[in-house]
Amino acid sequence: MYFEDLTPYSYHRSEAESGAVNVGWLGADHPFASGTASVEFLDRLFVICRDHVFKMHRGFHVCEFCPNAANAPLAAIRIGNEARLGFGEIRVRHQGGKVFAAPTLIYHYVADHQYLPPREFIEAVLLGDCLVDHARGSS
Ligand SMILES: [Zn+2]
Repeated sequence: MYFEDLTPYSYHRSEAESGAVNVGWLGADHPFASGTASVEFLDRLFVICRDHVFKMHRGFHVCEFCPNAANAPLAAIRIGNEARLGFGEIRVRHQGGKVFAAPTLIYHYVADHQYLPPREFIEAVLLGDCLVDHARGSS
């Protein structure tokens, strides 16, 4: 499922008007920015992808860059904790108000494929807040 970074979110039509922008919807046929992310950013992103999923998918997505991804969901381990990725999306709000919509696989892309998201998204993860789906409560 590929969407270019910073394009208007449109994956789920019901939210297409929300004003969120895409980040981290990588696809095998599209080049992406790469670089080294900070440990602090990865720590925070891991927690968001594990504990603050905004929207669940009906099935799961797999990484298009891992040759052995096949049809099994992906599990990421960080400091002894496990997060199962590919099942949903996160929403992170920048201090300036912009909301980013990313698949939980984004953690794997950054940690294992050196994907470097746009600077604003990194700032939002570090300093902004993450949103939860009203339907699922805010607990
Ligand atoms: Zn991968």
